[in-house]
Amino acid sequence: MGSLTDLLTEVRSCSVCSDHLEHGTRPIVQLGAGAQVVIIGQAPGRRVHESGVPWDDPSGRALRRWLGLTNEQFYDPETVAIVPMGFCYPGSAASGDKPPRPECAPLWHESVLAQLPGERLEIIIGMYAQKRYIEDRKKTLTETVANWADYMPTQIVLPHPSPRNQHWLSKNPWFEQETLPAVRERIRSFLDT
Ligand code: SF4
Repeated sequence: MGSLTDLLTEVRSCSVCSDHLEHGTRPIVQLGAGAQVVIIGQAPGRRVHESGVPWDDPSGRALRRWLGLTNEQFYDPETVAIVPMGFCYPGSAASGDKPPRPECAPLWHESVLAQLPGERLEIIIGMYAQKRYIEDRKKTLTETVANWADYMPTQIVLPHPSPRNQHWLSKNPWFEQETLPAVRERIRSFLDT
């Protein structure tokens, strides 16, 4: 296994799918050798592509609230690794953003995740990450999230915290009332040990 610094340099110069990225390549990953919490989400949005800071947008603010993490904790690479399914902004579609580039996770995830401690807590956000990382997921994203207790204590499954998902949140009030308190407690106890 190469060094983490070498790997990050390699990732940040990746241009494998540049022909498909109308806004250009800008891989956005946060990684530290001690990070025991890893957030596997979808792909950066336009604002994050511009700032270069992961989850630096309304979705990120919602996510930090969901997880009960301060900005300091969230942006400490020795606490939290951020490894989206696609590292570059895929551009916008008719409704929302395009899907993460399919080349990215098969190309990079194994070597990136190999840099992290073996004992870790995975936070799996959205359908693309569920498809790759939740072995016995249910028929729908909602059903999988509703069965969150099946995946604890090593995985936490969440919908995407985008403001566009407000409708999902209001249709599924159990998520705020039951799931999020359990998620926060799990993260708190994991980081305390
Ligand atoms: S999305 Fe991933 S594979 Fe594609 S150019 Fe960016 S880093 Fe490389």
